[in-house]
Amino acid sequence: MAQDDLIDSCRSSYRLQTHHVIPRRDGGDNTPTNLATLCWYHHHIAIHRKGHRIDPHTPPHRRRLLPPRTWTGYRHPTNVEYLNPIQQQERAYQNFLD
Ligand SMILES: [Zn+2]
Repeated sequence: MAQDDLIDSCRSSYRLQTHHVIPRRDGGDNTPTNLATLCWYHHHIAIHRKGHRIDPHTPPHRRRLLPPRTWTGYRHPTNVEYLNPIQQQERAYQNFLD
């Protein structure tokens, strides 16, 4: 597990665990770009208890959390090209690399 897989600004290494950025039930898979390494606090408290989500548009080494109330799912407006969640993440990552 690389240190830079951690949530931005978190330097905790307490009980590191992997988490699916896009949940399996929403089509997320086990590829490295869909996995994040999180400390116990960010995994169990911030995400699973308080309802934060990892912003799928952030690349693996720059993960950020979305507050629960801004979470709107992966739907795109109908007037733009439709990308499924995996495609959105790949697009965001490619834009970051370009
Ligand atoms: Zn953390």
